[in-house]
This record gives sequence, structure tokens and C-alpha cells, in this order.
Amino acid sequence: MSLIVQKFGGTSVASVGHIEAVADKICRFRDQGHDIVAVLSAMAGETNRLAALAHEIMDQPTPRELDALLATGEQVSIALLAMALERRGRGARSFTGGQIRILTDDSHTRARIREVDSTRILAQLEQGNVVVAAGFQGVTESGCVSTLGRGGSDTTAVALAAALEADECQIYTDVRGVYTTDPRMVDGARLLRQITFEEMLELSSLGAKVLQIRAVEFAGKYKVPLRVLSTFEEGPGTLITLEEQTMETPAIAGVAFERDEAKLTVKGVPDVPGAAYKVVGPVSEQGIEVDVIVQNAAADGSNDISFTVKREDAERTLGILEQAVPSIPAQTVELDTHIAKVSLVGVGMRSHAGIASLMFKALGEEGINIQIITTSEIKISVVIEEKYLELAVRALHSAFALEKPENDG
Ligand code: ASP
Ligand code: MG
Repeated sequence: MSLIVQKFGGTSVASVGHIEAVADKICRFRDQGHDIVAVLSAMAGETNRLAALAHEIMDQPTPRELDALLATGEQVSIALLAMALERRGRGARSFTGGQIRILTDDSHTRARIREVDSTRILAQLEQGNVVVAAGFQGVTESGCVSTLGRGGSDTTAVALAAALEADECQIYTDVRGVYTTDPRMVDGARLLRQITFEEMLELSSLGAKVLQIRAVEFAGKYKVPLRVLSTFEEGPGTLITLEEQTMETPAIAGVAFERDEAKLTVKGVPDVPGAAYKVVGPVSEQGIEVDVIVQNAAADGSNDISFTVKREDAERTLGILEQAVPSIPAQTVELDTHIAKVSLVGVGMRSHAGIASLMFKALGEEGINIQIITTSEIKISVVIEEKYLELAVRALHSAFALEKPENDG
């Protein structure tokens, strides 16, 4: 008999009909002899609706009260699912984060889990009941309701799975799993059977937003086997696992991309110690996240420093740099808002040579100019003109034969 934590996102519990379907699914797992802890999100759109109510009252709602409000969304879905299970003759109990005692720190609206008390859940499982837990929420030391940040139910599920030493944590969602790239962009995008935690982290931080990044970090840290799968279609989904468990590591897991980026270039920066700091420092101080950075030497001995930011931060960054120009001192600042970033991700890069050269060859053959290149141990990213994004993703997907199932670990 195994213990499975199953998390159902907002689209999976969007209506009473959906909740009934989730109850049927859980019953099938119970019939196979599994113990089930279900973790639910609020019904689709509900968290947004609640947040909007708060914003009607004040621009910046009191964080403590905002949490008290937002956490009610999950309280609705868990009670309904527990009823649906009871109506099917199954014992079920719903619990809020506070009732379980998912203890968090005091940072309202983005609280971090400190401790999970498993006694109550274990006692219910012992009695043969399905436990239906509210995702996204906890309780602070002083007894206030806290929430874990948008998408936080994934993290709740992983935290419960870790605390209960569950055999698997299944995240049910509206896609079939993790793909080699966005299937809306590339027809041949293939569902991955397995992927490592590290690869998943890179893919999610690069725009493949299937799971909350914190949940993936948490699962990696506590070695919780995590599976992403569809609520609506049968299938094995994607298992996110430790590298050692992968039989044969393919070089590349997938092609990720980020469309909404902008590039800033500061020209004529003196080639002296501290100059790069004078460029990047004021930008980071304003809380703007600086991504890919590159420095090029110009013929006159000065440097050009380019870096990327999120497109929404572009104008603000430009303003900051223009102010900094005289004190750097630099010549000019240029802004390019039409850029995109494409990345190859794969733990197999560590042991396979020639990945970068094949990548550059494929882009070159399509006439795509690379503006910036950065690499890490399991990732190579290039910054290119935005209009070539789709072409680049398709070219890389086929250059690395990612549509072929034999490339799946
Ligand atoms: N209901 C919360 C949200 O929409 C938490 C979650 O769905 O994971 O962010
Ligand atoms: Mg969600």
C-alpha cells in the first residue's frame, strides 16, 4: 500500500462538476489500495476574484487581512471535495492549513513553510479516510492565517509529501506534463517521461510555467518524487526525479524561451575597476532583476556593457542608466525592446561535447544572429532578435532531434 499526495489546481476544481470528477479519480486510486492526501487550489479564478474585492477597498490591502481573505478560496474547494467523497461512501475530512498546522514564518502573502505537523493527517489515514488539505496556506506562530504566494498549492503538496514521506507527489493540471518545448509553438514538441529537478528548475525559471519554482526546489531538496500530469486526459505525465534514477541521460531535455525581455547597452564605459558596478549597481538597487550580462571591448579601449531585463522594467532601467551616465562616465545608453532569449537545457551537457557548436550552427544556418551568449553547467542561452524566436526554437528542436522518443531518458 502506498501513500500518494495528489494536488489539483484551480482548473481541475473549476466547478462542482469538476470536483465530482476529481472525487471519482480519487476513488479509483483508493480502490487500488492507495492512501490519498488531496491538496486543492481554490476554484479557478477565485483567488483573483477575492484579491479584486480587497483592492476595491484599498490599493495595498493589509497583508494579514489579505491572507485571511485569500485563504478562504481553498476552504470552499476542500469542503466540496470532502462532501463529494462522502457521498460516494468514502470517509473524507477536509483541513485548512491552520488545522493541519502547516507552520509558516510571518511574511504574509509570501510566507515560507517552517514545519508541517503530520499527526492529524496520519490519524485520519489510519482510520481509512481521504485527507483533503487546503493548498496555498498555513498559520503563523502567533496564529494568523498566512499564504504562500500565487501558485503556492504546489508547494503545499510537496511539503506534505515530504513530511509524510509519500511515495509520490502528483500534480494534476491542465497540461499532460512537461514538454521538450511549448507545444503551441512546435508541432513535434514531445511529452517528457522523465526530467531531473535541476532541468525542471531551469525550464520553469525560463518560462515553462507548469509548476511553482519553489515547489520544485523543495521537492529536490527533500527528494520527493514529483509527477506532473493531466486531470482531464489519462497518461503517465512527467516524472521529475533525481539524476541518478535516469537510466540514460539525453544531452538535451528541452528548449525554453523567454519573450518579454529587453536589452540595454551602455557605451563607452571606462576600462577601469569598478566600472561594471557603476552600470549594474544602480539598476539592482532599484530591485530590477538583471539577467544576461556581457562586456565588449571597443577599439578605443573603452567597453560596451549590455544586459537584459524584463521588458516591463525596460523604460525604468533606461531612466536609471541615463542618470548614471555622467558619473560612470559613459557615452550613451541604447535600449532594444525587441529581443528574446532561447535556451537549451539538459544535464547531459555535462558529459556531451559539441552542444554549443551544434546550437550555433543551427541558428547560423537559419540566418539568426546571436547577440549575447551565456552558459551554465546545464544550460546555454542566446539572446536574439525577437522576430526570429519561433524560427530559432523550431530549428533547435529539430537540430537536437527532440521530437524523437529515443531521446527520452
Ligand atoms: N489559489 C492560489 C492561486 O491561485 C494558489 C494556487 O492555485 O496554487 O495562486
Ligand atoms: Mg495554481
